[in-house]
Amino acid sequence: MLTETIFVGTELLLGNIVNTNAAYLAGQLAGLGLTTYYQTAVGDNEERLSGCIKQALERSDIVILSGGLGPTQDDITKETAAKVLGRKMSKDERTVQRIEAYFDKRGRKMTENNFRQAMIPKDAIILDNDNGTAPGMIMEEGDKVMILLPGPPTELKEMFEKRVIPYLKKKSKDVIYSAMVKVCGRSESEVAELLKDLIEQSGAVTVAPYAKNCEVHLRVTARATKEQEARALVKPVVKDIKGRLGDSVYTTHEDTTLEKAVVDLLLANELTITTVESCTGGLIAGRLINVPGVSEIFKSGYVTYSNKAKRKAVGVKHKTLDKYGAVSSQVVHEMVTGALALAHADVAIAVSGIAGPDGGTEEKPVGLVYIGCSVCGVVTVKEYHLKGNREKIRECAVAEALILTRRCMLEYCSKVTFGKEKGK
Ligand code: ATP
Ligand code: MG
Repeated sequence: MLTETIFVGTELLLGNIVNTNAAYLAGQLAGLGLTTYYQTAVGDNEERLSGCIKQALERSDIVILSGGLGPTQDDITKETAAKVLGRKMSKDERTVQRIEAYFDKRGRKMTENNFRQAMIPKDAIILDNDNGTAPGMIMEEGDKVMILLPGPPTELKEMFEKRVIPYLKKKSKDVIYSAMVKVCGRSESEVAELLKDLIEQSGAVTVAPYAKNCEVHLRVTARATKEQEARALVKPVVKDIKGRLGDSVYTTHEDTTLEKAVVDLLLANELTITTVESCTGGLIAGRLINVPGVSEIFKSGYVTYSNKAKRKAVGVKHKTLDKYGAVSSQVVHEMVTGALALAHADVAIAVSGIAGPDGGTEEKPVGLVYIGCSVCGVVTVKEYHLKGNREKIRECAVAEALILTRRCMLEYCSKVTFGKEKGK
């Protein structure tokens, strides 16, 4: 089934808000194994919206609209959609009651224009909104389906997951099952090359890669008549991918993040960690502390932005700073060892780099970043040349630091285990 999404709101066209609903719905639809060829953003204008809806209904089976279901005059999605399908609207008493209850609960009074939201086109399936007043709706017209969702992301998300996914799953004759494989430490093109045949095949299983935050995520999807069959199709492909990419696959769990993988590795090996950051300004510590349960292993995080802080907080030598500069492998080496000793931790990560836009030279350009990691005294320092603006460089430096830490820990742990086995 072909799906198509339309995002309604002049503010999207003016760049006042970022179309996060587009990314969210695209990801969800891909996860359900549904194909999308078109995604449109259109302003709050009846004529143009109507044109978009008509065109979408011609070329796609399921048309999903988001936004413009609110109570104000510029919210015209429902009225326009009803007009295109030639459906009259009438007040739905159950929705009136739900909206009244919503206002009561918040000690607010329902205004006259909120009643507009209880006007429902004929034969529409109502999707209750648990986070707001505007109901969503599904309208079936022959073999076409139109789904209307509210614009605010929290409302859209919950409605989609609770009410639309079950509908779409029921509608599809096939069951779709998908798995996630998350890869770090390899570029998207490298992954694509290694998995070329799997990505290009057009059989029952599809493998779709996408780059995210310096990682590569692979969605493996299969379609079958029964869930068990779909799972059985996905399983060997995931195994094959893991075999080809080795331990650069850090998880096959949808909800596991890179920082969680690092924290899990630390917990499993009973190793504590400390961070000492210059250009990333605490972002590495921040990502690690995102993970529940990190308190068991996170000792302390130093932000040593100035040279003085590098000296005073973690004992980098004056001489080293003078001779090599703050952005150097020598300084990062001393940051790592200094932090490790001070925090009495087993693992330390350190970062120093030039995030720009200023401060770059021919010898040390913007994007030059040194990342150091020590695992139980074994120190590794690597040089990186990261691309992008200040935000991107810092974001990438954080990801690379987590990736290097994971790599150093895997190497250390394999040696320890190997040593143990050898000594047996
Ligand atoms: P409301 O009842 O709040 O008016 P609505 O369904 O009419 O909801 P809109 O008026 O189109 O939706 O948008 C309301 C708000 O929802 C916007 O100001 C914006 O914050 C958010 N929003 C709308 N569309 C999107 C989108 N595509 N991506 C991200 N946020 C969006
Ligand atoms: Mg609105």
